[in-house]
Amino acid sequence: IGGSPAQEEYMKNIINEFSLTTEHLCKIRTRFMKEMDKGLEKEGCTVAMIPSYVEGRLTGHERGQFLALDLGGTNLRVVLVTLEGEGKFKTVSTKARVSDALKNGPMRNLCDYIAECIDTFLTEQGLEDKESELPLGYTFSFPVLQTKINRGTLSQWTKGFACTGAIGKDPVMLLQDALLRKHLPVKVSALVNDTVGTLLSNAYNKPNTLAGLILGTGANGAYIEKISNIKKWKDGPTKSPEMIINMEFGAFDNERQALPLTRFDNKLDRESINPHSQIFEKMISGMYLGEIVRNVLVDMIDRELLFSPKGTFNPNVWSKEISTMWAFETSFMSKIEEDDTENLSQTKEVLDTSLNLSNVSVVECRIVKKVSELVGKRAARLAATAIAGIVSHCGIPDEGVDIGIDGSLFEFYPSFKTRMYEALQELFPEHSDIRTKIRLGLAKDGSGVGAALTACVATKAE
Ligand code: ADP
Repeated sequence: IGGSPAQEEYMKNIINEFSLTTEHLCKIRTRFMKEMDKGLEKEGCTVAMIPSYVEGRLTGHERGQFLALDLGGTNLRVVLVTLEGEGKFKTVSTKARVSDALKNGPMRNLCDYIAECIDTFLTEQGLEDKESELPLGYTFSFPVLQTKINRGTLSQWTKGFACTGAIGKDPVMLLQDALLRKHLPVKVSALVNDTVGTLLSNAYNKPNTLAGLILGTGANGAYIEKISNIKKWKDGPTKSPEMIINMEFGAFDNERQALPLTRFDNKLDRESINPHSQIFEKMISGMYLGEIVRNVLVDMIDRELLFSPKGTFNPNVWSKEISTMWAFETSFMSKIEEDDTENLSQTKEVLDTSLNLSNVSVVECRIVKKVSELVGKRAARLAATAIAGIVSHCGIPDEGVDIGIDGSLFEFYPSFKTRMYEALQELFPEHSDIRTKIRLGLAKDGSGVGAALTACVATKAE
């Protein structure tokens, strides 16, 4: 880094705390697999392993017009999907912001807002007077205990949502009621977790798809399981021997047995709206990574190691933003990690324009870049470990497997994918080139096409 002895010493410790050895990854995978087994055996486990009621595999010939609605990320999205068969599709979509007031207010208001967005969209598309009902796949990306493909109860909010009057209720019914109040020709025919949608959209043209992951605001995954392995399944015979499981793996190790949590993770957890839950997600996903970096930087400031370190005085280096929770966004880390200029001018620019930190020295920029790298790399390695757990649980066939991944972190964070492959290679040393056996692919717009595919499967099954 080229800093003072105190800065170097601090960085040495931090590097130690955030680094994960191969051995560590293997241990985490073992525990992850045990938790998968537990979740398949009985209800109420940390990794919930929720049966999705989506059975069997796609043919790729699915056709028709469907609506998809996505709630649970940064934006609310409404998509009109036309499935054309042969793995091809067309989409038209619209986005709307979900304000904090809606996220924290009564669920009825949120549902009315959603219905209004759908109403506007249908009018724009000339579909408001449609004779037959449009089937809608509702991507509702929160832990839901499903009882049918379009029935379930919300068990808990995550990712900054906290509407009242929703926990223990069926999000499908609440939305369908709001749609009825507006007399919209739409039937909510499938309740879809975004991971399940991502899996299906990837599978529409990659038949060897085993799992779908979200690495965006949150982190979660779904995979195809044998019904015979789902010991807790009590809903009678199924048409297919396989079903997609929504793992809800963001809650993995809420017991804090395997994950190497640092004091920065603990602080984030304590200050979050859901302490002691989603511990794994908090180390991996876009909502949290920037905040972990900020926690490290703030600790360094408090110890007089950064931004006007001991022995210097630079009144320009003062920023309210750096002391504000969530002000350091994960996208800043992307920009900082991307910076390959010699004097780290891009990093300097981010610190200046986004965090109001001016006159930051090159050494300080190097420190910020290193901290970003540590937090980003740890996230990628942990995400890879989850995939390794799924793949080890299911076994790798000769033809290999495809994993569909959606989310800004995977799509935009530099080196995220490369770091995931590196960790996978360490976890599967018996395969000479893991990239050919476990193929990670961007399943963009998974929640739109995937939800449409689920709605399609659901209408066929009726
Ligand atoms: P969703 O909310 O549906 O998961 P995204 O996949 O876009 O939506 O994920 C949004 C999250 O990704 C946010 O937490 C944000 O901080 C993070 N993010 C957005 N852009 C970037 C980027 N360029 N690099 C890294 N993370 C990003």
